[in-house]
This record gives sequence, C-alpha cells and structure tokens, in this order.
Amino acid sequence: MSPAAASVNGGGGEMSEKVKSPVDLKKSNVPPIAHPTPDDAFGVAANIQYHVQYGPHFSPFKFEPEQAFYATAESVRDTLIQRWNDTYAHFHKTDPKQTYYISMEYLQGRALTNAIGNLNLTDAYGSALMKLGHDLETIVDQERDAALGNGGLGRLASCFLDSMATLSLPAWGYGLRYKYGLFSQRITKKGQEEYAEDWLQKFSPWEIVRHDVVHPVRFFGEVQSQEDGSRRWIGGETVQALAYDIPIPGYQTKNTISLRVWDARVPAQEFDLYAFNAGDYAKAESLHAKASQICAVLYPGDATEEGKLLRLKQQYFMCSASLQDIIARFKERRPSKGPIDWSEFPNKVAVQMNDTHPTLSAPELMRILMDDEGLGWDEAWAITNKTVAYTNHTVLPEALEKWSQTVMAKLLPRHMEIITEIDKQFQAFVTKTRPDLESKIESMRVLDNNPQKPVVRMAHLCVLSSHKVNGVAELHSDILKKDLFADFYSLWPDKFQNKTNGVTPRRWLRFCSPELSTIITKWLRTDKWVTNLDLLAGLRQFADDKQLHKEWAAAKLQNKVRFAHYLEEKTGVKINPNSMFDTQIKRIHEYKRQLMNILGVVYRYKKMKEMSPEERKKVVPRVVMLAGKAFATYEQAKRIVKLVTDVGAVVNNDPGIGDLLKVVFIPNYNVTVAELAIPASELSQHISTAGMEASGTSNMKFALNGCLIIGTLDGANVEIREEIGEENFFLFGARADDVPRLRKEREAGQFKPDPRFEEAKHFIRSGAFGDYDYEPLLDSLEGNSGYGRGDYFLVGYDFPSYIDCQKEVDEAYKDQDRWVKMSILSTAGSGKFSSDRTIAQYAREIWNIQECRVP
Ligand SMILES: *Cc1c(COP(=O)(O)O)cnc(C)c1O
Repeated sequence: MSPAAASVNGGGGEMSEKVKSPVDLKKSNVPPIAHPTPDDAFGVAANIQYHVQYGPHFSPFKFEPEQAFYATAESVRDTLIQRWNDTYAHFHKTDPKQTYYISMEYLQGRALTNAIGNLNLTDAYGSALMKLGHDLETIVDQERDAALGNGGLGRLASCFLDSMATLSLPAWGYGLRYKYGLFSQRITKKGQEEYAEDWLQKFSPWEIVRHDVVHPVRFFGEVQSQEDGSRRWIGGETVQALAYDIPIPGYQTKNTISLRVWDARVPAQEFDLYAFNAGDYAKAESLHAKASQICAVLYPGDATEEGKLLRLKQQYFMCSASLQDIIARFKERRPSKGPIDWSEFPNKVAVQMNDTHPTLSAPELMRILMDDEGLGWDEAWAITNKTVAYTNHTVLPEALEKWSQTVMAKLLPRHMEIITEIDKQFQAFVTKTRPDLESKIESMRVLDNNPQKPVVRMAHLCVLSSHKVNGVAELHSDILKKDLFADFYSLWPDKFQNKTNGVTPRRWLRFCSPELSTIITKWLRTDKWVTNLDLLAGLRQFADDKQLHKEWAAAKLQNKVRFAHYLEEKTGVKINPNSMFDTQIKRIHEYKRQLMNILGVVYRYKKMKEMSPEERKKVVPRVVMLAGKAFATYEQAKRIVKLVTDVGAVVNNDPGIGDLLKVVFIPNYNVTVAELAIPASELSQHISTAGMEASGTSNMKFALNGCLIIGTLDGANVEIREEIGEENFFLFGARADDVPRLRKEREAGQFKPDPRFEEAKHFIRSGAFGDYDYEPLLDSLEGNSGYGRGDYFLVGYDFPSYIDCQKEVDEAYKDQDRWVKMSILSTAGSGKFSSDRTIAQYAREIWNIQECRVP
C-alpha cells in the first residue's frame, strides 16, 4: 500500500494529524478501468483510478485528498447515473402517476457518505481508498455542503426526497440552482458576519447538466386579446431555464430519483456584439447580468423594491420551468396521435407546493392550459385544483407571503389577470353557496385591496387552488383549522389534513452515528429498523439491561469525544467530554427563544459564582452549545449571537468556574455540523413560545439519537412526548391555548416578573459580559406592549418554569442509570418520526401514487 497523500489543509482548513508524503499512484498497482457499476473494492479502486487519470478536472499526477474526493464522487456518480437511467426508463415505460415536489429550498448537505451508504458500498469504498493510499473519513471531509436551503423547511424537502427514493415512489424534486445558496457565517468579535457560500467553488460532482432540457421563461411584457377571445402574453424579457439533475439514491432499492434544479441563462443571440465591439460592455451583457441575478442567492434582501422584484422573479422562474417540464413529460408519455386528453393530467401528475414560495405554479398551470393548450376556464381550473396541493409551514403573520399587486401586474401581467379572476369567482362562489360567510369574504379573498398597499395573499391563493392543504404536526394543523384558515375550513372541511413531519433514519441515525446503529442492530437482531423505524420500539424491553446501558453510554461518549475535537478545532474552546452536552442548534429567531437559553446560562453562571467551594462540588458540569444563522437583516437575531459569544468569552475564561460551565457558539450551522452535534448531544432545547413552531424536525433527530429534550408543548414536541413517554421529556412553559390570554394580561400591565428573570437581565446590564449595547435586546423583554417591546414571545413568563425544569435536568443527570434509560427510551419511541412514514401518508392521502420499483 502506498503512503497517504500530503495535505496540511483539508477542504475546510482542517489540520491533518501528520504531514504525509504524496501518494504515488503508479505504486498502487491499481489499473485505471472505466466500470460504471463496480461492486467490490478492486473494481471501485480501478474506477476511481480511471477518473483520476482521465477526468478533465485535475492534473493526473497529483492525488491529494481533494482530487481523491472528486474522483471518488465521480465513480459513485457513474453508478447513480446507471440507476437513474434505469429508473427513468422504468417510469417512462410503466407511466405511473408521479409526484413533483416543488421547493424553494433543499438543504442537502454532503452526499458521499449517504450515497455509498444507500448503495451498500461503504466497505468497498473504504477498502478501495485504502488501496489508493487514502482513508474514507478524510475524503468524506473534503466535500462542501450543498447549502441550497435556510433551515427546517429545506431539510424536510431533502429528507422527503430520500424517503421517496427509498420507498420506490415515482417522484421528483424541483428547485433552483443557487450559485451561492444561503450565506456562510463567520463569528468575529463583532458577532456574525456573512460571506457568499461558494459551494460550487470548483464544481459539484453530483450535478448532471441536461443541455437538452431548456425552457423559456418570460417576465414583464403585455397581454393581448386574440380574435377567438383567448389571451396571449407577449413581449418583455425571456430567459432560459437550464436543467441540472442531482441523483437521489434510495436505500436498498435500485430506484434513484432526481432533484432537478434550474439555472437561468440567456441564449448567445442576446449577447449584443455591436455594443461590445463599441466598448459598451455593460450594455452588451445586460441581459446576461440580469439572468445571473435570478439564481445568485437564496432569499436576497427584500427591503428594496428591486429586492422584492427579484424574489418574485425567482419564484416564478422556478414554477414556470417546473410546470413546463412536467407538461412536456406528460405529453411525451401520451400516444403521439390524436388530441391530448387533458382530463388525464391529474391522474398522472401531483404537484406539491412546499410552503407558499411555489404558489405561482397554480396560475402558471392555468395559463399554459388556457393560453397554450386552448382549454376553457372551468376545465383548466378543475385540472389545476385536482393537481396541486399545499403544505403550510408557519402561522407567523410576517412569514405569510404577500406580494404587491403593482409588482405582480408589472412582472407577470397575465398571471395577475388569472389571479384576479380566481378572486372574483371565489367571491361569487361564497355569496352563492355560503351567505353566512358573506361578512368574512373580504378577509378571505386572494386580493387585499387595501388602498395604501394592495397585495396578493399567496397563502389564500394556495388554499383556493389546492385540493389538499396540510400542516406539519398535529398541533399546527389544529391551529390552521381553528385559527389561520378557520373560515376556509368551514367552507371545505375535507380539504384540510395533517402530515406530521419526519426525518430520514439513514442520514440521521444509520450514517451519522454508526456506533449507536451497530448497538441497535445487535440488540434488535436485525437492521430492518433502517427502513422500518417502528422496530426501534423493540429496544424498550432492554431499557433496564446493564449491558445495553454500558454499550449505549460508550457509544455516546465516543460521539462526544469526536465532537469535542471538532469544536476545539473550530472555536479553540476545549471541553470536557464528561460534561453534559446541552445544545440548541437552529435558525436564530426570537420565537425559538435562544435568548431564554442564554439568560438561563447567565443566571446559572451568577449563582455558581455565589456558591461556596463545597456547593460547587455538587454542580453537574455542562457545556451549553448554540449554533444557527441569523438572517442578514434581522438585527435582533444578530444581537442574540453576539450575546452568546460574549457570555462564552467571560464564562469560558473564568478560572473559578473551569469545566463546570462552558458556553460555545458553533459557527456556520449546516447539515454537516448537525450530523456531528446531534449524536453527541445529551440534552437539546426546543423551547419556542407555544403555538409558534409549526413542527420542528431537529427535535426528532435528537430524540432518535437518544438525546433528551427540554421543551415547550409546541409543534412536534407534543407528539414526541406522547411517543417516548412524558416521564422521559422535560416539559415546561405556557400552553398554546394560554398564549393569547397571557399576552393580553401582559398588555394590561398584570405581569409580575420573577426575581430570577430580573436578576439575569440586571447582570447583563451591569456590564459583566462587556459593554456592547444589549439594550435593544433586553428592552424587547420589558414594558407591556409596543413595537419591539412587551415581550411578545413570553420569555419573562416562561423563565421561572424553565429554570426549575433545568434543575430537574441536573438532578436526572446525576443518576446516570436513570439518564441512560431515558436516552434508550427516547430512541425506542422515535419510530413515528421517520420521513418514510410521512411520505407514505402523503402518497396515500394526498398524491394517490403507488410504488414503482425498478426490477
Ligand atoms: C434539521 C435541521 C434544521 C431544522 O431545525 P429545527 O430545530 O427543527 O428548526 C435546520 N437546519 C439544519 C442544518 C438541520 O439539519
């Protein structure tokens, strides 16, 4: 075997343990052989060699970890392409009804471990790389996360693709190919700083460009009446949507489906050669520049009119390209002779809109059916309604999208006509069928004609256009029916459903914690739990077994040690793996209440400082870790990040405290960080104001990995607690039903703050953590009402019960037997939270699609 490659710096700037001499490929004795579907170590090594020597990307004489990663990924890709082709051919031949999942976000993370794991080739790839002088772990670490998403909604879409493939369902994902995705976060003395996330820096080995799949997408222009009375949208600007496919392999199935992401291009004839040669380069390339803005970043700032226009452009670009593609495939699979039977369309196509960003799919389908295919309104509307369905992800009023009617009419004049007609027909329908709802019509309409700011309510457009509307956890779906969409619910009770979210057990247990997985498989005597997560319940019978306790704790410790290394390397903070690992990792948002967590830490720290040495001996050592990105323009969230890092800087350097308390902000939260942090965590915090977190999915990942939860009765916490048993869940805080009353009481000046809450705020104000101006943050917790004041998120109300609950956590941790038992029972009770279960329910209850397995 040849020596491993020389590379001081890995992809992420990690230091390798020792500097090794370069790999001499000739000495490895592995010949380059192109073989798309190798299944043993030798075949894999030869195929990797082939990509090293004949791949167009690197000089063939170097074989450092980075080149090795690309060659390895290309070798895996060969197999995936083979399977992708087989899957596509099978779908084409059998022509099943197919689901198209449209989402603005996909948080895919890294693909290599998942792909070779799903292909059952992990061992073959491990040995092949050894033959070539590398170790799999180092190679895996070279990959950059595909960060085409922001948070839970995007990760859900990615978990869903994994489950659709694994269940061999005929399904496809559609999205956008952002050049920079969501920003990359760095933490400095000033707090969070944002940088462009250059995930395509060299290139992504996983995407396959489809030069033959291009659709034109129009913006602006005008609408003309034709002689036959039909309408035609003409003029304006046209860009091209070019398809890139990312293969999504299923686990233990040959089915490999596709995530198709669109990039915006303009054809060469739009390049103004005359202007260019005349030296007017900006003019020559103006259309190119505009096109490249469309897929530059996820969620561009929308404070300006230009920013708003760009966001709407992105949404329409995604919807139009995807719908044209879906229709092209539908036509391709029809007999070539005779007219197309459009009534067949909803029997072949299901479109799922992930939140309101893809809402324009509905009017776009209407436009194509009427203007291009010549259908009448009623027929087009019936088809659209049977085809599309909508998942709601939030009840936060500021997150419910509303677009200015002026902007919509300018950018998409034909769609504005269609939306106006939908709005008009809806009013007529209610007046005719439900006169009792007459007084509600204005608030239910799609168009809000408020003279100051006339807008289109996208969520209402979704509800009207869809045959099914679902929430993402039971509590959330109830709130939709009782509150947000109550009037629509009374109109169409059968339209509303619940689909409690889930996560893929492959990525979130089998591959991210191989240690724990091995133990589970050993005790259950089967690895079938990976595709049938309910089998985890079988662990309950061993919950008191001392041998299992020993193995379980050892696996957890191994994960903790690995994560401690990572943390030290990223932040310089050394943590003791024997402390309790307590994490809160999620987008930074006031409703998620990271502020309550850090106020709790401040209170804990102050109390510890006041303790005698004797008392300190009884303290359970804790490492409190937070991670998450604050949206670039969300100042309050950025102040929270700053406070966490300032508290950490003081606490971590207090010699009197030592290992008893550490506070660490983990920079640049993404899927890879989650895959390391979650298996290592023992306590995780899901402490949103009740009624505000639609579901949460990281709570499911943590519970699955045997991490206990401290949380409120919110989102999926409710169901997790039911499944794992209330004695295994640390519950505190106000209930969703009480929140409106508590807010009213607060406004009426009836709130009496707990002295501990006052003490924590006072300690920060005293300058204990530096002189940064925390006043806007602390002030938001004061007063009884007003913009940015009055503690809308009820931190003050919940704080005392939170502190008490944290005391219970410490007591439980002191009894390690009890703690490990609770940990085992958390995993054992997590079966329901597999995205396989969620997707099977969507397939049956919304999409009406069946398994279509490649033989
Ligand atoms: C699971 C996941 C989320 C969602 O976390 P919540 O705590 O449910 O909001 C966000 N980001 C990443 C990277 C994730 O893996």
